[in-house]
Amino acid sequence: MPISLSRLEERLKEMAQIGKNKENGITRLAYTDSDLEARELLSNWIIQIGLDVHIDGVGNIFAKRQGNKNGPVVMIGSHLDTVTNGGAFDGTLGVISALEVLQVLIEDNISDILPVELVVFACEESSRFGCSLVGSKYLTGSLLPEKLETYHDEENTSIISSLQQKGFIYNNTLARTTFIPENVKGFIELHIEQHDTLAKSGLAIGIIENIAAPTRLKIVVTGEAAHSGAAPMFDRKDALAAAAEVILLIEKLGRSEAAAQTVATVTSLKVDPGNMNVIPGTVSMFVDIRSINSFSKKRVLAELKEEIKGICLAREGIKMEINVLSEEEPVNLDKKIIAQIKTACQKIGVPYQFMNSPAGHDCMAMASVVPSGLFFIRNISGVSHNPQEMIDLDDVYIGTQVLYETVRKFSAEGVD
Ligand SMILES: [Zn+2]
Repeated sequence: MPISLSRLEERLKEMAQIGKNKENGITRLAYTDSDLEARELLSNWIIQIGLDVHIDGVGNIFAKRQGNKNGPVVMIGSHLDTVTNGGAFDGTLGVISALEVLQVLIEDNISDILPVELVVFACEESSRFGCSLVGSKYLTGSLLPEKLETYHDEENTSIISSLQQKGFIYNNTLARTTFIPENVKGFIELHIEQHDTLAKSGLAIGIIENIAAPTRLKIVVTGEAAHSGAAPMFDRKDALAAAAEVILLIEKLGRSEAAAQTVATVTSLKVDPGNMNVIPGTVSMFVDIRSINSFSKKRVLAELKEEIKGICLAREGIKMEINVLSEEEPVNLDKKIIAQIKTACQKIGVPYQFMNSPAGHDCMAMASVVPSGLFFIRNISGVSHNPQEMIDLDDVYIGTQVLYETVRKFSAEGVD
């Protein structure tokens, strides 16, 4: 049986009904009822194709198809949770195409390959708990069980409490799938592009070489709150005016590292006291710096620290404190898998391009422990985390073919 576009289309449509709002946006925040409903639907499809469903303590879903050959497993998949008012394809497309690949392997009774396992990572988006890649980091050991207590949603429910509430934890034990990297040959993820690079270049497939990693900062600017009418201009300690200089500085530093494809953004500001007639006394801001080049990120941070001293010197009474909240290393994807995705594209006759991923994906956590590969499918609207996110069905078919061919080759490698 060949890959079925109508089956892919139907499943994408059915999944897109779950968590849908009036504007056609989709909200399936991790571990909420809509997320559970999506997971249930997927689990039913897995059972329908004749596989067993396994779920670990944080809700990662696994379904393994045992090949005739013993050896390490080839893992494929993505995630089903979404941001608030997101699109229908981010994560979901990778899960549904991976399921299709498994189904075709089963229907065609392909036997000369290693086991292939679908994995649906739980809580990939940071929207609910402020922590992304929960499932993939937990599986690969970089997110320890005790940390699950420390992340909370807006209602102050921790990850661990929500797992408890939804019945993922039995007898107070957090089930853990024993993940032994030696038993995994590699991981391959298909994902919709979250920008318009492929749409602009007119190509259906982007093969990812590196994934950018964020360095995240919290900067607190302290001045002095005072009466905005009574305090003369020469005698003020305006924290917001000083923060404005920092915002422009960060934009300048990001631009100066354009050659390394580094981006730097002030993503949010909290102004205190925030009253009409009071000069701001304190401003807290969050900064997100991303790059595929860790030296470039370090240069931005070093320069920022240096130039901030200058702003404080020029503005008497202003103090600034930089807290580095996280500093992650960019990821280089596996060269062999990259070459195999390329060979698959050539075999199918689909034009592709090599590119980097500015956004993080589950593949990032997997790449820290096993050889991993990632490729993008063109996003025709060019936007993601948005109801407008859109894909061409022909590209869904092409992408699933590329995934199938890559998995077929990768899982047959070294098998006699
Ligand atoms: Zn995603």
